[in-house]
Amino acid sequence: MNGGGFLPVSRADMAARGWEDYDILLITGDAYVDHPSFGTPVIGRLLESEGYRVAILAQPDWHDAAAIRAMGRPGLCCMLSAGNLDSMVAHYTAAKRRRSEDFYSPGKKAGLRPDRAVIAYTGRVREAFPGLPVIVGGLEASLRRFAHYDYWDDKVRRSVLVDSGADLLTYGMGERASLEIARRLRAGEKVGELTDIRGTACLRKERACAFEFLEIPSFEEVREDKRAYAEACREENREHDAIRGRALLQKHDERWLVVNPPAAPLETAELDALAALPFTREPHPMYDALGGVPAIEEVRFSIIHNRGCFGGCNFCSLAFHQGRYVTSRSHESVVAEAEAMTRHPLFKGYIHDVGGPTANFRHPSCLKQKKLGLCPDRSCLAPKACPNLDADHSDYIALLRKLRAIPGVKKVFVRSGIRFDYVLAEKKDDFLRELTKYHVSGQLKVAPEHCIDAVLDKMGKPRAEVFEAFCEKYEAMNGALGKQQYLVPYLMSSHPGSTLGDAVKLALYLKKRGVRPRQVQDFYPTPGTVSTCMYYTGLDPFTMEKVYVPRSYREKELQRALLQWFDPAKKALVLEALKKAHREDLIGYGPDRLVSPERPGGEARHFGDGKSGISGEKKQGSPRPGGRPAGQRKKLEETEKKDAVRHYGDGKSGPPRQKRHTEAPPPAARRTGPRKGPGKK
Ligand code: SF4
Repeated sequence: MNGGGFLPVSRADMAARGWEDYDILLITGDAYVDHPSFGTPVIGRLLESEGYRVAILAQPDWHDAAAIRAMGRPGLCCMLSAGNLDSMVAHYTAAKRRRSEDFYSPGKKAGLRPDRAVIAYTGRVREAFPGLPVIVGGLEASLRRFAHYDYWDDKVRRSVLVDSGADLLTYGMGERASLEIARRLRAGEKVGELTDIRGTACLRKERACAFEFLEIPSFEEVREDKRAYAEACREENREHDAIRGRALLQKHDERWLVVNPPAAPLETAELDALAALPFTREPHPMYDALGGVPAIEEVRFSIIHNRGCFGGCNFCSLAFHQGRYVTSRSHESVVAEAEAMTRHPLFKGYIHDVGGPTANFRHPSCLKQKKLGLCPDRSCLAPKACPNLDADHSDYIALLRKLRAIPGVKKVFVRSGIRFDYVLAEKKDDFLRELTKYHVSGQLKVAPEHCIDAVLDKMGKPRAEVFEAFCEKYEAMNGALGKQQYLVPYLMSSHPGSTLGDAVKLALYLKKRGVRPRQVQDFYPTPGTVSTCMYYTGLDPFTMEKVYVPRSYREKELQRALLQWFDPAKKALVLEALKKAHREDLIGYGPDRLVSPERPGGEARHFGDGKSGISGEKKQGSPRPGGRPAGQRKKLEETEKKDAVRHYGDGKSGPPRQKRHTEAPPPAARRTGPRKGPGKK
């Protein structure tokens, strides 16, 4: 195993560097992939660049303090993270089933990090190194920084800072906070004195804070009272702004959780400097014999050019982590990364993505926010684009042109989600033209999520008419360019606000447009999102209006099945759903029906539209048990493929929808429409 170029992962690595001791121990729940897409290595490389001696312990045995002691006691502190995902999201599906694979672990092996990893690791570090300052960070700590609803326990839990017993919590993108913590510890300050760092949370005995602050309902109040929970959620989101946001205090028993205001986002020069750190961009070679770390495949030839998102989707945790203020890297920095890729032995000429939280955001959504911060009570894009929105795409276009011109680059794809409403808001077609002409790999994935405006409002998504307008423009652009490329719409079932009747309307909408989703995303109440607040409280925290919530497993199953009405395996569920929604009129034969009636004594032979169904779960080309002979099956599969996902409007065939990654918090919590509510300050 040659770990040269990586941060030390063992005493031998430390010895090779001539270290007898070191400063900071980083623990992560992911395998060690030395790439800027992985949070712990980013913090490690940054601290290293400032002269700290840093060692990484990836996925240590959390049952045994001896594993934590493997590299000895660090001089300053331990900084730990569950990894790139919340450990519960990484381990369980939206239906709370244990996942069998883990893409952030060697050989996809599941079970290499604990559930509630921040709590488990902190306990072992306390045992291994009594008295050592412990700082928790990463997505899990960040999104659980306040008292929060936990879907897996189905209860409100305390801040993870309280439950873990750590000294400090960093939230958001932790570079500034981590550097300041390290610097002040090195200068001799005690960790208990570090109560005034932006982007951190601490526990205090007194009701005090170094910043202007607002008190939100206590843990005990939000645990007992759903209205108080919704009020707290609203303020947590309103104040999450690095320019105008205040600190928030939330009492937990006799102590005060002090969540200081967010750290300022890294600006262009700082993002460039971070990208230029000496990442090897590969998994540590200690994983080679174990099958490598699959998560690298998604990012090896992809470039992150921006941070932050003003998209405002309520089910996404990104804004509550990275913030809504968008910053981006310079063209020079991105081009340098792409040029380096062309020298990689595995590079075949394709840059898989030039994106980020939202690919087509390069700058803040308006000028005024540079001084005043983002509006606390409205979204920049939904339900309608703000009149102040700056939707200029010219900088992104120029960047993509430069990347296409690099020798050795054959194609540059944009695979991160684009905000189609932001594309339309520009009122010119330049970006859409370039995107369609050069950057779509046959299918463009967009996320309308639903078609019912009342549901879209709860999601924080633009109204259905906006998506319709984009479909038309995209189709026209493809026609003008002589291309046959398809839109693949991402859809979500059972989001708060969505009734069974709404799911029926969505199924009809899809059928009318010839769209047959292969996979449907169930709403997943991940920690810290506005939608999770709606799910738990049944209230919209911004309006305090009641929200219908599909909660039972059965109803979720019915809503999901409706969106795959064409799948024979879902027929019984679709029939049940239509009867429950009192839409028996949709059972029958003909183009206006969703499903044929149940045949007496057994399985129906065909569906309402008279076409053969496909299984959303079946992999293309895989044989069905007891199925038809290979030749016949191939023919049938070709027919099914044509029928599977159609281009909006032209009825042409396209490839099936690919699996979406957002069961995990995407990588990215967002929010919705009118923010004015009873609690508006
Ligand atoms: S809502 Fe409008 S004014 Fe407010 S931050 Fe967004 S773009 Fe600017």
